[in-house]
Amino acid sequence: MSEKINEELVRQIITKVVSGYQEQNKVQAEEKPPVIKTVTCPVSEQDVEILVEASARHVHLTEEDIETLFGKGYKLTPVKKLTQVGQFACKERVTLIGPKNIYRNVAILGPARKETQVELSLTDARFLGVNAPVRMSGDLRDAADIIIATDKESIAAKGCAIVAQNHIHMTPDQAKQWCFTDGEEVSVKMSTARPLTFDGVVVRVSETAGLAMHIDFDEANACLFKDGDMGLIKRSRCGTTAQINLPKMKGEEKKLEMAVAINKRFITEEDIKKALKNVNYSGLTLPKAAILSAPAKDYINREKINITFI
Ligand SMILES: [Zn+2]
Repeated sequence: MSEKINEELVRQIITKVVSGYQEQNKVQAEEKPPVIKTVTCPVSEQDVEILVEASARHVHLTEEDIETLFGKGYKLTPVKKLTQVGQFACKERVTLIGPKNIYRNVAILGPARKETQVELSLTDARFLGVNAPVRMSGDLRDAADIIIATDKESIAAKGCAIVAQNHIHMTPDQAKQWCFTDGEEVSVKMSTARPLTFDGVVVRVSETAGLAMHIDFDEANACLFKDGDMGLIKRSRCGTTAQINLPKMKGEEKKLEMAVAINKRFITEEDIKKALKNVNYSGLTLPKAAILSAPAKDYINREKINITFI
């Protein structure tokens, strides 16, 4: 037997062992769960300051109801422009009649709408004796019946009275700039003499929006609101702090995956598309209690979107 070492064989064995070790390391790296770190979204971290407007009780009327209450062919008389483009307060006034009480001299906001809607504070509703639910403007599910009258005529406005859900109006550009989505719920700290924070304030995005938050008189009184007072939209519930999954070491791929947050309870396919539009992130963080629509679930599976519940 030769005592000489076969150097070529040794080299081959070493190469095999080393490459096996490297392979093993690669497998381990692939199986490692992604490290999640919180990073700051590129959008400003600053709270967004917003003008607050308190809405007194008022009505919106259909063309038909305007004619019934004021006469055939009657047109409302604008006296004051509102912050929402095209909307105005009218010279005309109506009386609201409930089972318990009446309110005279109630404002009408124009222009005419598709549906007559009476907006009250909860105190107003109790005073009138009607059971008005808290609803976004335009959502008249279970809305209360009420009588709307003028000195000429009256109408039984069925399912018309609501307590308006507080909300913020902004344009699509503003929403994009501050990273808000239509329907998103935010918290607003009132900069008033008796400061308080409203949670669950709904963001409404529309082309005709004038940047403002709308509260009713109960809410205004609760925080000692006076005209010109501002609110701060807190960023903590928005997508400002996003989660980042560190590189997954999948082969050569070292893609950073960043998530945007949606802060809504019921999430549609549209919400997901909107949230991921114009950003290069492939992940989403959703509230633990979020309910996803069936098309939203399908979309997530189809697009392989990384979801984290927080
Ligand atoms: Zn409004």
